[in-house]
Amino acid sequence: MFVRILPDQAAGKLLDYVVPERMRSTIGVGSRVRVPVRTRLLTATVVAVLEDSDWKGIREVAELLNERPMIRPVLLDLAKWMADYYCCPMETAVRSVLPVAVRDGRVSDRRRNVAVLARAVTDEEMEALAKRAPRQADALRVLMASDKPMAVTAAAKSAGVAEGVFRLLEKRGLVRIESTVMPRDPCTEKFVSHAELVLNAEQAVALDGVHAAMDAPGKPMLLFGVTGSGKTEIYLRAIRKAVNDGKTALVLVPEIALTPQTVERFKSRFADMQEKIAVLHSHLSEGERHDEWYKIHSGEARIVIGARSSIFAPVENLGIIIVDEEHETSYKQDEAPRYNARDMAVLRAAREGAAVLLGSATPSLESWHNATTGKYQLLRLDQRVDDRRMPVVRVLDLRQQARRSPEGGILSGPLRDAMEGRIAKGEQSILFLNRRGFSTSMLCEACGFVAQCPDCSLSLTYHRATERLVCHICGHTARAPKVCPKCSDPGIRHAGVGTQKVEEAVKRAFPKARIARMDADSMTRKDSYRETLGAFKEGRIDILVGTQMIAKGLHFPNVTLVGIVNADLGLHVPDFRAGERTFQLLTQVSGRAGRGEMEGEVLVQTFTPFSPSIQFARHHDYEGFMEQEMEFRRSLLFPPFGRMVLLTIRGTVRERAEFAAATVARKLKAAAGEEFQVSESTPAPLEKAKTYFRFQVTLRGPSSVAMARVIRGVLDGLSMPEEVFVAVDVDPLHLL
Ligand code: ADP
Ligand code: ZN
Repeated sequence: MFVRILPDQAAGKLLDYVVPERMRSTIGVGSRVRVPVRTRLLTATVVAVLEDSDWKGIREVAELLNERPMIRPVLLDLAKWMADYYCCPMETAVRSVLPVAVRDGRVSDRRRNVAVLARAVTDEEMEALAKRAPRQADALRVLMASDKPMAVTAAAKSAGVAEGVFRLLEKRGLVRIESTVMPRDPCTEKFVSHAELVLNAEQAVALDGVHAAMDAPGKPMLLFGVTGSGKTEIYLRAIRKAVNDGKTALVLVPEIALTPQTVERFKSRFADMQEKIAVLHSHLSEGERHDEWYKIHSGEARIVIGARSSIFAPVENLGIIIVDEEHETSYKQDEAPRYNARDMAVLRAAREGAAVLLGSATPSLESWHNATTGKYQLLRLDQRVDDRRMPVVRVLDLRQQARRSPEGGILSGPLRDAMEGRIAKGEQSILFLNRRGFSTSMLCEACGFVAQCPDCSLSLTYHRATERLVCHICGHTARAPKVCPKCSDPGIRHAGVGTQKVEEAVKRAFPKARIARMDADSMTRKDSYRETLGAFKEGRIDILVGTQMIAKGLHFPNVTLVGIVNADLGLHVPDFRAGERTFQLLTQVSGRAGRGEMEGEVLVQTFTPFSPSIQFARHHDYEGFMEQEMEFRRSLLFPPFGRMVLLTIRGTVRERAEFAAATVARKLKAAAGEEFQVSESTPAPLEKAKTYFRFQVTLRGPSSVAMARVIRGVLDGLSMPEEVFVAVDVDPLHLL
């Protein structure tokens, strides 16, 4: 018996070893082992078990690290698939399916001394003890009152005695002290059970569809439900069915939406089986992550809720995988392997024979395409629960406002009036800014003109150093104009504002109002997010100013006004998804208004009020937007009608990186033939990031697999200059 193993180091080299007799019954695909390589012992993962090996000078596996294989075969398969598809070393892919906390074996089980009653104690004995040693009697009573073993520390605390008292009880033979594994529980609250809601007619139809698919998994499902339509109730019912059927459920939510509010909704519904729920998110300590992972690995957890990487949670017997907010770009990992967890969910479900449910109020164009072409089954919720009205959306044209007052570009007259009205009525407002000041497009503040590529219809990026405009999809370049080509206004350069500036402007406008800001800068402490949201929920804040962070999944009945400070910030970035993103964001943010009894209003400020994203969002017309967006993508063969791979070449020395990028582009062009197009290398829209100079090469063609194959060939045959790195992003979601 032989095994083929992948060492943790040494990217990608597979080696064969003999399995010694003593390991034969327990070793398997996914086992973690230690093997001799030259003079060292390396940790490695078993990727195949073989009858035979033609390897010469074969050696023995030195040590089997765990009783049970640590990586389930289906996950190892997914890792292989990722390495091929996303063009990364197998070792990198395997690394992502087994968390570091578990892989290294550095973190171990948490052990605690636990006190257990050694035998029954009679009333007489108790009385005698109380006379002679009252403290010991107190300690004993605490143990007797508890229905399960107690940690000595906890028992001592609750009896109000020193821990040593339990040792004395042990000497008397009344108590046993044992060392046992006590999982670190990241969640110490106990949740009150929360009953199922009575479904409305639409929800009932959707749920029927989900149940049917769970009984006979086939097509993935897309649940398209407007904000506030009750999608979560559908998820909860689907999970309940999985559990009732003796299966498990895996729920992915975007990290940013993995708020205590969300987790509470799940935990309180399943309060009856709270210890069978595992939650995985980035705020867990290494130890907590280790314990949650083992809770899943051991089969104890039946419901797993987590962010992106939880798609590789080792749950067995999956009934359903749910991906909430499936359009979210945070499902795409921004380092190798650059996988999209939503796509991996579809793949994993297919391989495990599980149902898969993708949900969103604004499905990604890719998923919508799959749903309308019949590849996915479409389920819809068109009405808000209780027939609450969609908020009224008004578009405010900044082209004139900005000129009138210095603050007109931040708070226009109508927005300011609306906020004032809310403060007077004791209602709350949210002011939303979509990004923190990265703006390289050229926009005219007088007429709304935006510089675009004549071939790709994408915003051109303005590069200050060379005074040129560049298209990052095809490489087209032009000199940057000094005045607006359309109206000759000289105010063509547009600088973005940050949340801090908005907060200051609001404070100046409403000195008496209670204002809080929420963005990555102001939320550095772990609890500040929870605290600010708590204060807002309790009405101790009138106006909340923030970024993306406040756009997702929050539910505040008293918010009746949402202001979008500058819809253009995300709209005119050089990315073919800019329009889709802006539409999604406007729709999601609007969804925050009017979630209570009162009607909501949304005010959108923009220099380009005619943009389709803004106009369709204003009319809550998802399908209308998708229709014209689909046409745009089809006519220019952008995804999903063509595939794209983005190579980013970065280096600390500008010339070296630039030269390497040009070489990569040239070699790829030579290798590509007619099969696909390779762009010139261009400076990236984000030219410099974290001391690196960045350059890009874009590939477009009908098949990403074919492109990945050629890229691999070219890169393997090239040695990069020192300090120059290449990142390959297949199906990129960000083109910056
Ligand atoms: P979505 O996720 O689609 O935006 P939610 O699932 O957050 O919507 O639901 C919005 C609100 O409606 C929640 O407070 C939820 O408890 C409530 N809700 C959902 N379904 C029902 C129902 N059938 N009856 C009453 N309230 C419901
Ligand atoms: Zn172009």
